[in-house]
Amino acid sequence: MARKLIAVILLLAVFVVGVPLAAGLLLGAGGDEADGGDDEDFAGKLKTPQTITVWLTDEERAQELDFEEYVACVTASEMPADFDEEALKAQSVAARTYAMAKLSKYADAKPASHPEAALCDTTHCQVYKGEAELIAIHAEGWEESGLAKIKKACAATAGELLYYQGELVSQPLFFSSSGGQTENSEDVFSGAYPYLVSVSSPYEEQATHKNEEKSFSLTELAALLAAAYPEKSIGALSAENIKILDHTQGGRVSEIKIGSAVFAGTQVRSALGLSSALFTISFSADGTMITFTSNGSGHGVGMSQYGAHGMALAGSDYRQILTHYYSGTEVH
Ligand SMILES: [Zn+2]
Repeated sequence: MARKLIAVILLLAVFVVGVPLAAGLLLGAGGDEADGGDDEDFAGKLKTPQTITVWLTDEERAQELDFEEYVACVTASEMPADFDEEALKAQSVAARTYAMAKLSKYADAKPASHPEAALCDTTHCQVYKGEAELIAIHAEGWEESGLAKIKKACAATAGELLYYQGELVSQPLFFSSSGGQTENSEDVFSGAYPYLVSVSSPYEEQATHKNEEKSFSLTELAALLAAAYPEKSIGALSAENIKILDHTQGGRVSEIKIGSAVFAGTQVRSALGLSSALFTISFSADGTMITFTSNGSGHGVGMSQYGAHGMALAGSDYRQILTHYYSGTEVH
């Protein structure tokens, strides 16, 4: 705990003092080697495979792919190529770690929804688009600029994975932007993980989805919630009986009373299609309309991609980004 506190203080100091001191301070806090180092002393290092079999959902078939090419294509599918190289490297380690965790989990029995492969190519696992598809959906010249940049970033981390206390990280979750603070895993999903804890995400200046407003009539609100959660009895709605009751540590809505029912913030986010559960509410003067104003995009657990990009622009390398968003982890 004390070490974590020291690490937080030092990290804050790094942000204040600036880039040149960053590597030294983090080394002093017991962090990983800022320059990459060697891994001869890490006994638990896993070897990544040459190939990986992925279920191509639209084509309804399994495809064997070169493992590192798969990682590069996932990175290109999950993060824009114009993000900083260190953010792309961090994303590649997260993608590689996620794939390894699934390969290990489904070494024998495969997932029910794609029994021929441990991973599929959609958000059910992590998004994978092949090179041809990636080139087709991007502007002319992207192959030479964007894809080449992503491949270079992935090659720089080839074989590297994220570990927590010597074990492979099983849930290297990531999302688009946090609105300033990430979430404890157990506040959003069912399970708690020691490396998925709420941390600040101060460098999200370039993030989209800021102060995003979505308005509904109270009738629409009731209908959308009833459709998503038919088991809940909402009753008649008015501006007086809709109230945010509690927040998570990361600042998102944990409980909101709507009429005679209580919803989790994540339930409201999903039923209304809000970008984030980090929202406030307000009402029209006549009380018939409600406006949800949200910040950030995604579930908020793990690495903020815009936060990673911002940290990189402020001078952090991919290891510092990863160990910031996945508390207590190491890259090997
Ligand atoms: Zn899947």
